[in-house]
Amino acid sequence: MQQLIYLDYNATTPVDPQVVEAMLPYFYEKPGNAASRTHPFGWVADEAVDQARQQIAGLIQADPREVVFTSGATEADNLAIKGVFQLYQRKGQHIITVKTEHKAVLDTTGYLEKLGAEITYLDVDADGLIDLEELEAAIRPDTILVSVMWANNETGVIQPMAEIGEICTRKGVLLMSDATQAVGKIPVNPRETGIHIMTFSAHKMYGPKGIGGLYVSRQRPRVKLAAQIHGGGHEQGMRSGTLNVPAVVGFGKAAEIAGSVMAEESRRLAGLRDRLEQSLQQELEAVKINGSREHRLSHVSNLSFRHVDAEALISSFNRSIAVATGSACSSASLEPSHVLQAMGLAEEWLKGSIRFSFGRFSEARDVDRTVELIVKGVQALRAESPVWEMFKEGII
Ligand SMILES: *Cc1c(COP(=O)(O)O)cnc(C)c1O
Repeated sequence: MQQLIYLDYNATTPVDPQVVEAMLPYFYEKPGNAASRTHPFGWVADEAVDQARQQIAGLIQADPREVVFTSGATEADNLAIKGVFQLYQRKGQHIITVKTEHKAVLDTTGYLEKLGAEITYLDVDADGLIDLEELEAAIRPDTILVSVMWANNETGVIQPMAEIGEICTRKGVLLMSDATQAVGKIPVNPRETGIHIMTFSAHKMYGPKGIGGLYVSRQRPRVKLAAQIHGGGHEQGMRSGTLNVPAVVGFGKAAEIAGSVMAEESRRLAGLRDRLEQSLQQELEAVKINGSREHRLSHVSNLSFRHVDAEALISSFNRSIAVATGSACSSASLEPSHVLQAMGLAEEWLKGSIRFSFGRFSEARDVDRTVELIVKGVQALRAESPVWEMFKEGII
């Protein structure tokens, strides 16, 4: 059996064993419903939920009452955008977002367009960054929401959130950020940054799948969202449904761990990332790093191998390294990434793009094995490629 190497931490992370341990009692020994007020089982569950809410609020420097639990970032993005759209109709129906957002945002704004919303999709430059002047110019009196992701899932590119927050505050428009790839990886403080609504997910930060959340500002301004799921009024009426107590507890523990290891971990992963990029660029010609080198998460590397088909490349090593090609998040689709297309990546680079994302359990030997297999694969594919030959001869 071939040794598998996991380098797809942006798709999901393994659950940290300490998180699993924290969750376990809440499956059997402590089975209460956090909404049960009449007996100790409920109180114990409710206390555990309170503690998790504090742990998560601590990580993002928020008031625990500003944390709302959902089933994940997809649901949180839906609740945030649809929730604002429904409640702020009197002000207008115009929303500004970015072409490189996650599908959880883009599919939601696409749906709202059918209901009469007008959406402005901002461009990004070759580095994946938005233009602040373009953003400011796009804001109108009827703009009800600006939605800009903190860090991109495909490239790791970090948007200038503080400047965006300053513009939105000055213009008096609500700012939302999908911070799913940023929370737990880099310092994130929505209040200080001028963000009013922020979404995130446990399974991208070593917590369990199926639990996520959103930050909703409670003061200056107090933001209200129209609920999308009704029944019981849980989560301050914003998201009804019995809380998944073990998952909530795991999410809290994951947040606590992230806060204490973040700085060290991101330094270590930057080392692995640089080792990968430097080795590949040394051993291969025509390897391009996609996205801003300066404004980028330290554990993500999106690379293009010119005139190489990424699918053929990962097949060359039997998919024994788990990486993402193309639009990883709209599963199964082999269309070129909408993110790289928005960045204007030329055709000869587009098909050969691979996202490597490292994490807590990655090691230097994983990088070395990856370099070995990628170099071998790229060389073999190029050796039998007429297009590569024409490129080398300067014909194209
Ligand atoms: C993973 C991801 C999501 C979706 O999160 P789920 O919890 O899986 O629904 C949304 N936005 C971004 C940026 C992501 O990386």
